Amino acid sequence: MAKAFKRLSRVLKLEADQGYQNKAVVGGIRQFATFWVSQARDEAVDEADRALIEQIAEVLVEYDKMPGLEARANAIDGLISRLKTRQERVKDLTPASQAAPPPSQPQKSVKSQTKKADPVKEKPKAEPELVIEPDPEALQQPVSVLHGVGPKIAQTLERLGASTVHDLLYIFPRRYDDYTLMKPISRLQYGETVTVIGTVWEVRARQARNHKLVQVIISDGTGKIQATWFNQPWLTGKLKTGMQIVLSGTVDQYLGRLIFENPEWEPVELEPLKTRRIVPIYPLTRGLSSHKMRDIQKQAVNGWAGKVTDPLPVSIRQRRGFYTLPHTLQQVHFPDSQESLHAARQRLVFDELFLLQIGMLGLRRDWQDAPGIPIPYNEQALTAFTNILPFELTGAQKRVINEMLTDMARDVPMNRLLQGDVGAGKTVIAAAAMVSAVQGDLQAALMAPTEILAEQHYQGLNSLLEQLGIRVSLLTGSTTMAERASLYEEISAGTAQVVIGTQALIQDKVNFKQLGLVVIDEQHRFGVEQRKALRDKGVASPNGSGPAEPNPHLLVMSATPIPRSLALSLYGDLDLSILDEMPPGRQEIKTRWLRPSERERAYAFVQSQVESGRQAFIICPLVEESDKIDAKSAVAEHERLQNEVFPDLKLGLLHGRMKADEKEAVMRSFYNGETDILVSTSVIEVGIDVPNSTVMVIEGANRFGLAQLHQFRGRVGRGAHQSYCLLLADTISGDVEERLSALEKTNDGFMLAEKDLEIRGPGEFFGQRQSGLPELQLASLLDMEMLEMARAEAQALFEIDPFLERPEHAQLHEMVSQFWQQAADIS
Ligand code: ADP
Ligand code: MG
Repeated sequence: MAKAFKRLSRVLKLEADQGYQNKAVVGGIRQFATFWVSQARDEAVDEADRALIEQIAEVLVEYDKMPGLEARANAIDGLISRLKTRQERVKDLTPASQAAPPPSQPQKSVKSQTKKADPVKEKPKAEPELVIEPDPEALQQPVSVLHGVGPKIAQTLERLGASTVHDLLYIFPRRYDDYTLMKPISRLQYGETVTVIGTVWEVRARQARNHKLVQVIISDGTGKIQATWFNQPWLTGKLKTGMQIVLSGTVDQYLGRLIFENPEWEPVELEPLKTRRIVPIYPLTRGLSSHKMRDIQKQAVNGWAGKVTDPLPVSIRQRRGFYTLPHTLQQVHFPDSQESLHAARQRLVFDELFLLQIGMLGLRRDWQDAPGIPIPYNEQALTAFTNILPFELTGAQKRVINEMLTDMARDVPMNRLLQGDVGAGKTVIAAAAMVSAVQGDLQAALMAPTEILAEQHYQGLNSLLEQLGIRVSLLTGSTTMAERASLYEEISAGTAQVVIGTQALIQDKVNFKQLGLVVIDEQHRFGVEQRKALRDKGVASPNGSGPAEPNPHLLVMSATPIPRSLALSLYGDLDLSILDEMPPGRQEIKTRWLRPSERERAYAFVQSQVESGRQAFIICPLVEESDKIDAKSAVAEHERLQNEVFPDLKLGLLHGRMKADEKEAVMRSFYNGETDILVSTSVIEVGIDVPNSTVMVIEGANRFGLAQLHQFRGRVGRGAHQSYCLLLADTISGDVEERLSALEKTNDGFMLAEKDLEIRGPGEFFGQRQSGLPELQLASLLDMEMLEMARAEAQALFEIDPFLERPEHAQLHEMVSQFWQQAADIS
């Protein structure tokens, strides 16, 4: 059995012993090759063998012409080690796989098109088996336990968010290069991403005009191809003639010949890491090359993925057919195939959604575990309230108020989300609830994300509610010490009936006499912890003994119109009120999508609006996810616009890197009309209502989600004047075109949200941190079906173990708290 391979290996050893004189066999190696090949072909056990034989033959045939002893030595060494690898591989083959189909029969991986072989299956060194042996402590080891991770690299990894090996395993590839398509050189085609295996035929270093080139000719049995690397002169020390290497890359063209430029390469005998496989591409940061990162991850996966404990209950995993967590991690970093990559990602997406759902169920359970304070539905009080309104409530407003007051009359604390597009009239609904609370002898609090918004609410609500004899107070960061002291007293005495404010409301010193209702406006702007802190104000003595203290009713409001279908699967347990009708007579914001060549016209239009006394917003594109770059582009744009475009106007600048009080100051001066144009990043999306502003120019509109664009647009059209939104895109794809024209056509936020969901999938709503929920790493991959599945499983789990107290759920319990903790940290 396999005599040919044994014989070859003897010949090669002898040749090496004799000093590469080409005398190990009579007639020379070249002649030996011809006989050897036909014998070996008969003995081949599988496709990988057949590929190997042709590649070996190629080397043997060229052996006598190889330039110099060193090239010969490399060639022989390479062959010997490949024979060894083969021996190990063949040893492992089961009888079943020995009965591999003959080469003429089409293979499953027909992609490789090569009739003579399917080298994809040739794995020089098999992927090490993952040894599964949970060891949570080992995972907490610092990244520096990995080979090649010194203090410097450790610091760099820290910037990516990884200080332990466990963290590292959760830094997933950004994308993958699929190099599993293998081809003989003669069949390469321009533009394809492919892998070839061949022998290094010639290595040359050249100095071109301004860079150093290393040019290598690679040859396999079928042809030759040149590979060129730029500015990597050290390659001449690594690539030796006679060496057998694997090249992966995209086939390029130079002067009519096919070439590779800067392909990935590896010696053929090494375990495939960056060629011949689906290669992971990691998020990069300065001081860490993709090669290095891949190396580090390979070690982490090989050594540690098997030590991860799988928190997912086995029953769920089996019911849904998911991989185990160790296998998932291994496959998401170094996938064996597209299918296994997909399966691994599905599992990870599920995990995130599952944790999210359990967390939400838990929040609701905690919230509604305490009794509520029933507030009787008071028809008369409601009528008194509607009578003082300067307008008639819309049908939707009446319906939502009814839902809410009915809910508040129960002895379970209300936990309601009110969704309504910008300008739909949510404030008046909050007011109705607050009036009801005050009528029930309880206090109400409203928290808004910015000072200006809190002030606007205060002015509006105060002038309304004082007509009913209700005392409304304002508490923000700017409230003076003296005012504060007396306000705290009024709050604890209960004379401050409605308190409106910012996060200042959740300070320790604020103690309500009896808080019956908490309203949170623009809820997605607050973190889980902040929302919780305000609700906890309702618990009169959190540490007190005796019967459980009642919880106040909770109303959270959001202008992010999440499509109904998504909202239901996401917040199905939350009571949801949707305000889907706009007050009558609302002006339509005229929206136009302009060509980049029309930018000057947009500026001229802004200028003319300002001249007639109006104000404008210019939104800068979000260049990168990084705040830093974001800020820089806004800073630069502000400067350019001020100096070159609008030298006579006053421009303000607002971006996410400014401190809260700086932001407030800038918004205030715009609000007061001291600045004409506000240049801003996406931070502007909520929290400012300037009726005098009538134009919004959005640069890089293609980079924003439809929901977010709509949200921006809601900043104008808030006064009596006709308002406009001008969109400028810097690239146009089918998807962009669809989104921007949708925005031109309708002002209906819910319709746009549905459209966005249809175009981009539900990930959009998480990716943008719009939800105030934990950020989902793989959200862009989630789909509705997965969301439903996670919900169903979370609910089923809650039925049997609502507090996750069973020992088999301990790990899951831990994961859920970590996941939600992180949400509190980022938002
Ligand atoms: P949002 O839902 O964005 O918070 P607001 O509550 O600020 O919207 O309402 C936007 C504007 O519409 C306010 O000026 C408010 O007075 C007005 N408004 C609210 N409801 C009605 C209604 N039923 N008829 C007419 N105007 C209304
Ligand atoms: Mg509002």
